[in-house]
Amino acid sequence: MSDCLFCRIIRGEIPAQLIYEDEHAVAFRDINPQAPVHVLVIPRQHIPSIAHLEGDVCNQQMAAIRRVAEQEGIAESGFRVVTNHGPDAQQSVFHLHWHVLGGRALGWPPG
Ligand code: 5GP
Ligand code: ZN
Repeated sequence: MSDCLFCRIIRGEIPAQLIYEDEHAVAFRDINPQAPVHVLVIPRQHIPSIAHLEGDVCNQQMAAIRRVAEQEGIAESGFRVVTNHGPDAQQSVFHLHWHVLGGRALGWPPG
């Protein structure tokens, strides 16, 4: 997907604060953070949303999320993982991404 924002970040065409990468996943800081830690974990492969997630990619993404939480020091204190799909969830970037939020007490329900 040549014009996808997150594919462009993966290719280094748009700057981002990358904090983690492996063979399958990339993670960078959200440009508009909603918590002291707000990282987006994404697959290297272009997948539009969780509705298109299949096979090994799910496990690979969960492994990357766990590593990011450990690296960011929120694995023990707690963190939240959110992925938005579709209009009701206000998905705005159509490359699957997991919001990893932490570093403060998070309210519930999320709204
Ligand atoms: P969504 O609303 O699709 O669940 O989440 C998209 C997220 O991407 C938002 O939290 C937004 O702040 C973030 N975002 C949008 N554009 C950029 C960008 O250019 N760089 C970074 N780092 N984050 C972005
Ligand atoms: Zn993409």
